[in-house]
Amino acid sequence: MPDLPVSELLELDRRHVWHPYGPMPGRVDPLVVESASGVRLRLADGSGELVDGMSSWWSAIHGYNHPVLNEAAREQLGRMSHVMFGGLTHEPAVRLAKHLVDMSPDGLEHVFLADSGSVSVEVAAKMCLQYWRSLGRGGKQRLLTWRGGYHGDTWQPMSVCDPEGGMHELWSGVLPRQVFVDAPPAEYEESYAEQLRSAIERHADELAAVIVEPVVQGAGGMRFHSPAYLRVLREACDAHDVLLVFDEIATGFGRTGALFAADHAAVTPDVMCVGKALTGGYMTMAATLCTSRVADGISQGEVPVLAHGPTFMGNPLAASVACASIELLLGQDWLGEVKRIETGLREGLAPALELPGVQDVRVLGAIGVVQLDHAVDMKAATDAAVREGVWLRPFRDLIYTMPPYVTGDADVARIARAVCAAAGGS
Ligand SMILES: *Cc1c(COP(=O)(O)O)cnc(C)c1O
Repeated sequence: MPDLPVSELLELDRRHVWHPYGPMPGRVDPLVVESASGVRLRLADGSGELVDGMSSWWSAIHGYNHPVLNEAAREQLGRMSHVMFGGLTHEPAVRLAKHLVDMSPDGLEHVFLADSGSVSVEVAAKMCLQYWRSLGRGGKQRLLTWRGGYHGDTWQPMSVCDPEGGMHELWSGVLPRQVFVDAPPAEYEESYAEQLRSAIERHADELAAVIVEPVVQGAGGMRFHSPAYLRVLREACDAHDVLLVFDEIATGFGRTGALFAADHAAVTPDVMCVGKALTGGYMTMAATLCTSRVADGISQGEVPVLAHGPTFMGNPLAASVACASIELLLGQDWLGEVKRIETGLREGLAPALELPGVQDVRVLGAIGVVQLDHAVDMKAATDAAVREGVWLRPFRDLIYTMPPYVTGDADVARIARAVCAAAGGS
């Protein structure tokens, strides 16, 4: 296909292509990206490059067009890009599963490779409900979570996203009705811990699992909370026969300053979801890990199998890039890089606190957030960031960044300036 002029491409895009959470036809023209390299996105309209402050939604931790990841993809492409996973297996999937078991909290032993984060959460829910069913306790089929969460856009995940002000409010009468408690406070408060314990105890007979994003709630509001709550959840779940699921799709692979956010509390969940940065942002792949207790329980049931098997399960191309991405991460001082970015964001975002309309500034690991006291003007904020040479994608009252770990100090400072400009200009 010949190269389309940008204007024509945008016209066709508007007419035919859905974008995330978008109307049809689109109302705001997206920027057209021609290529990307390192931390920079090159625009097709000739206006130059933008430093990527978003890591393509938490995923591109090593930046774009990385020689090591490119080579892994190329090498695998020469063997096979895909084979079915039913009745067949291959080294990329096996090596990836071994990597995930080795690097995740102790006790997570078994890996289900899914094709997106939302699907991995569906699988996690299915595992938990089926575990109790297999043990003859089929009444335990609800999930408990705290407000302010985000777990994806398919049906089970939607049912545990924040029920208010979120993107899924429309479906409140249609979704399975889960149990919600208040959003976790930033600091540890015994009264909130007590609220968690009593909700789990009160609903124990109908609860299959508690599911939360540990330490950082992402797309539900970019809120941080004390890791001590994870221990409270672990103890309460153990005491009342409820499984514990951590959704580490956003937090995994070092983003919060620990390899997994669960490590901040030294807690092992029964089930854990990973995705986003799993393939270094190259391809879609996610995984659901579980303990032997969960796998054994399912395997002893009347239906002793986990009835789930996506067509592209274990995709070799994605799995080999994921292996290369994990080896790249573990082979470097990733914590040093994340801490370096944390320091840069703390310094660079501090001035935002002085701006009118700014309610809060918070930084954890390689995540920086400026919260306004009003809804962000998306167009004005995005334009202000672009004028600073940076790509940001604010939402609700939040302007935030989670840069690739390879972002140099000057670019971190530039991203911080852009966040401040976006906060000031909207
Ligand atoms: C992005 C995200 C998901 C959904 O993953 P998709 O790959 O977009 O389906 C689920 N949970 C969390 C915490 C996420 O950040």
